[in-house]
Amino acid sequence: MDDLAIRGGLVVDGTGAPGREADVFVREERIVAIEREGGRPARRTIDARGHVVAPGFIDIHTHSDFTLPLNPRAEGKIRQGVTTEVVGNCGFSVAPALPGTSALLGDYLGASAPGLPFQDATFAEYLDRFPPVSVNTIMQVGHNTLRLMTVGMERRAATSEELERMSRLLAESLEAGALGLSSGLFTAPGSFAGPDEILALARVLARYGATYASHVRDEANHGFEAVREAIAVADATGIHVQIAHLKLSGTDNWGRAGSLLREIEAARGRGLKIDCDQYPYDTATNPLRNLLPGWAQEGGVSAMLERLAHPAIRERIRHDLARDGLNNFGRIPSWDVVRIAGSPSRPADAGLNFGALARRRGIDPLDAVCDVIVADRGHTRILIRSMAEADVDEITRAPWVLVGSDGNALAPYGVTGQGKPHPRYYGTFARVLGHCVRDRGLLTLPQAVRKMTGGSAAALGLADRGELRPGAWADVTVFDPDTVASLATYDEPHQYAAGISTVIVNGTVVIDGGDHTGALPGRVLRFPRRAA
Ligand SMILES: [Zn+2]
Repeated sequence: MDDLAIRGGLVVDGTGAPGREADVFVREERIVAIEREGGRPARRTIDARGHVVAPGFIDIHTHSDFTLPLNPRAEGKIRQGVTTEVVGNCGFSVAPALPGTSALLGDYLGASAPGLPFQDATFAEYLDRFPPVSVNTIMQVGHNTLRLMTVGMERRAATSEELERMSRLLAESLEAGALGLSSGLFTAPGSFAGPDEILALARVLARYGATYASHVRDEANHGFEAVREAIAVADATGIHVQIAHLKLSGTDNWGRAGSLLREIEAARGRGLKIDCDQYPYDTATNPLRNLLPGWAQEGGVSAMLERLAHPAIRERIRHDLARDGLNNFGRIPSWDVVRIAGSPSRPADAGLNFGALARRRGIDPLDAVCDVIVADRGHTRILIRSMAEADVDEITRAPWVLVGSDGNALAPYGVTGQGKPHPRYYGTFARVLGHCVRDRGLLTLPQAVRKMTGGSAAALGLADRGELRPGAWADVTVFDPDTVASLATYDEPHQYAAGISTVIVNGTVVIDGGDHTGALPGRVLRFPRRAA
């Protein structure tokens, strides 16, 4: 007898095909049959009439490696229907941490990972120690982490010896089961590496048949060149390249989404293995210090804090920002669009913007920014509204652009429930289905589901997830297409999505009638690679 029958729903199977009414049957960890009015007996029946039955959503770009150990139930993600998270993005990974470096890594990643304990670990040890959680995870090794381990925070090219050590650490991580390498070329120390260093590491990836995901070097005034740099990696090595959270930031670049999309489409048309993902919001989030020019961050957090104390240095930063705009985010209409998401030294300031903060204190906004960075020892996080809604919509409408939240699994309770994080952490997938599909018609439902499931599985090389078919892993999300919605807002972000009734991970029901069962059936999905 089957374990589960999900009866009477509209099956949208993740291939992009139109929905069809059918029953889905699960035995142990797999889907065993999909039949119209199937008479098969099952131990338990889930009534899905009036609901959509889809593959579990794959969040192809996340940083939940920073929070899953703190919230193994993955509340904010699983309640959006997410069953698999790809972590270790933007060049940031929690491993490898060579003996004696966990404090350094904790200092570097702390702004993004408050409360997370850091331990020395090889990548293999990290995977082995990863706790049981509700969602599946796919791990990547971060280039910024590799560089921190080998070159530190120095602003220079790696020596051939250092590059050799990075390559060895990368190879070890791939042999342990990492999907591939991620880069965060927009910020130190990844930004101190030239394209040649990335290309050298990409050749290691090619040898292992592994992949490369890039937060490109710039998402503002040099965004097109940065995307071309990522395309060139695919061109030179033949590996799969994932361009992270595609966007055009900064007022100088608004309105150019169409030509950016055409450029990537042309590369795909030439047969290059390139994908990209997006979160459907006009606002980004980052550590505040990342808005400063790269030279200001050189040498690590302590060196930066010492620098920011000097009025002459602040003057030089002011001059650079006036000329180039903010690092990675470009020119903004005013500091009113940058608001505090989390400030360890002044938690009550979450939600305040720097325009208001500066006016209140009667000082220049950049001084307010530097003062907060110093008070928080570099660990302030901000939200920045730096994109045009029309560009965001245009990227969302592209059926081949995948969905990634760029967010962490959070819960309104406990250590992850603090501050005012980006609402995308709780809302990305529900927002696509509700706001983008139902309310605004930017996409059809099968297109949207494809962008969250089968399309991502194809990009990742996951053969038996992302589509509903007999033999596939039973990762399933059931939602009400009339009520699915993100409830998280910038002012009240810690709110679960609505309309997701059932979520199944590896055949185990985790969300049941909208409630979390407490089950932790997620697995670390390893990609055991051997060098060719
Ligand atoms: Zn990123």
